[in-house]
This record gives sequence, C-alpha cells and structure tokens, in this order.
Amino acid sequence: MTQNAKSSGIVARWNGLPLYWRILLALVIGVVTGVVLGKRAVIFELPSKIILQLLGALAPPLILIAVTHVLMTTEISGRTTRRLAGLLLLNTTVAILIGLGVANVLRPGSWSKIDAPKAAVTSPEKAGGISPVDLVVQNVPKSILGPLGDKSNIIGVILIAIAFGIALRTEKDKPIRNVRDVVEIAYAVLLKVLHWIIALVPLGVFSIVAKVVGTEGFGPFKAMGAFILAVLIALLLQSMWYLIRIRLFSWVRPLDMLQKMRDALIMAFSTASSTATMPVTYACLTEKVGVREESASMGALVGANFNNDGTALYEAMAALFIAQMIGQDLSITQQLIIVLTSIIASVGAAGIPEAGLVTMTLVFTAVGLPIEYIALLLAVDWFLDRCRTTINVLGDVNISCLLDGRIKQIPPAVAMEAYNVGN
Ligand code: ASP
Repeated sequence: MTQNAKSSGIVARWNGLPLYWRILLALVIGVVTGVVLGKRAVIFELPSKIILQLLGALAPPLILIAVTHVLMTTEISGRTTRRLAGLLLLNTTVAILIGLGVANVLRPGSWSKIDAPKAAVTSPEKAGGISPVDLVVQNVPKSILGPLGDKSNIIGVILIAIAFGIALRTEKDKPIRNVRDVVEIAYAVLLKVLHWIIALVPLGVFSIVAKVVGTEGFGPFKAMGAFILAVLIALLLQSMWYLIRIRLFSWVRPLDMLQKMRDALIMAFSTASSTATMPVTYACLTEKVGVREESASMGALVGANFNNDGTALYEAMAALFIAQMIGQDLSITQQLIIVLTSIIASVGAAGIPEAGLVTMTLVFTAVGLPIEYIALLLAVDWFLDRCRTTINVLGDVNISCLLDGRIKQIPPAVAMEAYNVGN
C-alpha cells in the first residue's frame, strides 16, 4: 500500500467516527500532550483561536438567514402568532434567568482560576509589536463581510472566496425562481461551511486542552466539572417549569406526556439535533399524546425554529462561567445584555449539533468576554449539547400542549362516531 493510500485510509476512518468520539479522542490526546510538553504546549494556542474566530464569523449571517427564512416561509394567523410569540419569549426569558440564577449561586467558575488572555488586557499594538500568532489570527476573517471593506485584509477576502466558491459548487445548477430560493440556497451554503468548521472542532479541543493542561495543570477541569453539574441542575429546573405549566394550563398530564414523548426525547439526546428530531416530535405529539395537529405544528414545527430554551440557558451560563473563571466580574447591566443577546442567539441557533457554540460568540462579544475561552467549553460541549437539545425539544412540546388548551378537543370524526353510538 502506498503512503498516500494509507494516510487517506486513516483520514476516512477518522471522519467516519461520530463527532463526539472524535472530540473525546482529541481530549485524551490533548491531555497527554499537555502533560508531556508542559509550558511548551502554549504553541497549541493558535488552532483553537482560529476555529473560534471562524465560528464567530459565521454567526451573524447564519442568524440573519435563519430568521429571515422562518419568517418568510411560515403561514400562521395573527392571533396565534401573538400567543406563540408571547409563550416563546416567556419560556426563553425564564430559561436564561434560571441559568444566570444557578450560575450566580453555585459560581462554578470560581472553582479554579485561569489567567485572562493577554488580548483581553492589552492589545498587541499597546504591547509594542504583533506576535506571529496574532498576525495569523488577524488574517482569519472575523466576519463574512468585514474583510470586503478592508483593503489591508486581502487574505481574509481570498479565504472567504475559497470557502464559498467550493460550497457553491454543488448548488450552482439549482434554479432560482423566487426570493425564497435565494434565501434557501444561502442557508444551505452557510450550513455547509459551518459543517466544515465543526469538523475542525476536535482539533480545537486538542489544542486548547493541551495548552491548558500544559500551562495551568488540571485545576481548570475542577471548574468544568462544577459547570457541568450547574448546567444539569439549571436544565432540570427548566423542565420543572415546563411540567408545572403543562399541568396547570393544559389538559395534558405531565408524566403521561413524558412517557409518550420518550422516542422524541431519546432521539434528541442521541442526535443532538432538534431539527432532525422534529418529525418524531410531531408524530409523538399528534399520535401518542393526542394534541391537535394545529397545536403540534405550531409548537413542534413553527416554534421549534425559534424555540431553543436549552441553548439560551446554556449560553448565558457559559458567559457567566468564563467570566467567573478569569475573574472578570459582570455587572447587572452586563448580565442584562447577556439576557438579551442570549435570546437572539438562541433564536438564531440552527437545530443541529454544536450550533449553540456559533451563536455563543455573539453573547461573549456583547459583554467583552474573550471568545478564546469558548474553546475550553468545546471539551464538554458534546455532552451538554445533547442535554440542552433534549430541553429544546421539551420546550417545543410544552408550547404545543399550552396551545392545545385546558380542554381536550376531540377530532370531528371521532366525535361523530361517539354521537352515532350514543344514539
Ligand atoms: N444542538 C442544539 C439543537 O439542535 C442547538 C445547540 O447547539 O444548542 O437544538
């Protein structure tokens, strides 16, 4: 076998592994590398910085196109839209407040301290000269349109052209008949580029874990454990909120619903994608729980596009966690900004694995937190993503049940049959 064939076999095998396996392996290799190299592992800072910057660059156009697409394609009446919007906003705000509340009480980030990255304290110019790492990072686009208005960032423009040129190759023959087609093609292309960047996430995990273990030891991982626990507690509280609301404001019985929605909830956990789970959620709601088709489609199909409470809760907690870890206190105003940006970020998050990480860059930037530290979360995100996706789906179920109301409506055909039997 030639050297080439051998290496492409390894690459194919690696790509064939599920993402969470790749991330777990990267985690282990990162720990070993950090232990072996010690402080020298600081050289691995670069890949995670670049990957985070790329994820951040995709966030604004993704949110723009995703929200435009949903608004453009859904057909719902004014009254129901208002009711749906009210319920969505209430649930998401409660989720974020629960997240911030738990993070403020448990303070998972204070379990270990980590130095704030230099970039957050001094700019390279102020420090006198630009390091080679900064030079590379500066040429990676921070936003998709940014480099187009900046004569000095031609490398950034070329990188964007290469990415979109390749992504468009499979879309180039698709006919464009109306505005909807344009938006759909833009969305497909952005998701394709996003998947490429997500494929780099294991590299980001390896590099940040190697660097942190090498330079800071295992201390930060104590805080990571506390963070996982805090997120799980907050997600549990959010499910309580859903179940209590369902018990009080709909005819559905919460425990019965949980049992009948089992397939959808397990699928959400195992795929980490609420979009992939959507058809199962809808089928369980209509066929097993027995809510009206209209309520199920509003909650599980329309609402699901906006409704990512688990993601909102997670993004807010992550921001607070990192702030606590690097010793940067966030004022009440900054926490309010976190609430607002987390709402927007969760609405814009696509229902696919790791999408929350992309929009999280917006929340961090809004309150001036260094996005490099999101990389630290990559190591545990494969697990927490599954948990928050399950809550995202439970949130859609909650909306469907609430829209179905306090009295179960019997479908006309069944009602007619019952009437005939009675007479
Ligand atoms: N994976 C989540 C979902 O599909 C989105 C996220 O990353 O938070 O709902």
